[in-house]
Amino acid sequence: MAILNGQLDWQKDAACAKPENLHLKDSFFSTTAEDRNITKNLCFSCDVRKDCVVWALESETIWGTWGGRDENEIRRTLSVSSEGKEVRRDRYPQCPYCAARTSQLLVKVIDLDGGGRWTTAKVVECQTCNTTWRSRSSANAVNAYHNGRASIEVKKAKKSYDALTSKFFAAVAVVDDSLVMRNAAIEYQRLVDGDRTRTPDAEEERTIAREVVKEARKVVRTNRTHMARMDKKKQAASDRLDKVEKVLHSRGRTQ
Ligand code: SF4
Ligand SMILES: [Zn+2]
Repeated sequence: MAILNGQLDWQKDAACAKPENLHLKDSFFSTTAEDRNITKNLCFSCDVRKDCVVWALESETIWGTWGGRDENEIRRTLSVSSEGKEVRRDRYPQCPYCAARTSQLLVKVIDLDGGGRWTTAKVVECQTCNTTWRSRSSANAVNAYHNGRASIEVKKAKKSYDALTSKFFAAVAVVDDSLVMRNAAIEYQRLVDGDRTRTPDAEEERTIAREVVKEARKVVRTNRTHMARMDKKKQAASDRLDKVEKVLHSRGRTQ
């Protein structure tokens, strides 16, 4: 519920401050489902809902309903307990305005005006609705989420890279075998060609030798194509691994 202390412009348009809604004042701090539904419905029709919920987050107001979010939802977004202490939760923040998932939230560092001890601050920005709020604990929770995702991505990329590497070496072994086969066939052809005997048997032997060499070259070609394909896939997996590792390191994390 809006505090009408005259310091915040947006509060003059608060739906809950209109005379016809003043009777709901206490309902904003009620814990019953019925009261929460009533107040949330009013909030969702309010023109200043975004300002209201951002104000609650930035002032760490963790009691009552603000901007259509009850205190549990506000604490979850801030990642704080009912005592206001920062907690690591399994359930990460969502956008308090449009309810976009954590994957849509990004942390930015902004410069602060006026000098003093603090020159920068962390803000969280929703990529879906552009709502931005300044909160260290929210930013930490969002970063923890993205770091967790990046670690999973690295593991997946490593697994895929390892699998493709073994497939690539299997392909190399097949090519080696087929090269041995081709060389044996060429040697065979050389031997039968060297036999200048003009008998029907010798002619037949030479025809067979030519066929065998042709076949062996085909096998080598096919397996080389297969090996090149595997090499390309292995390279793509390696690039992907580099990329996700870079993301992870840029977030200040190591494996
Ligand atoms: S969003 Fe809800 S709590 Fe905030 S000013 Fe509007 S009606 Fe009041
Ligand atoms: Zn949003």
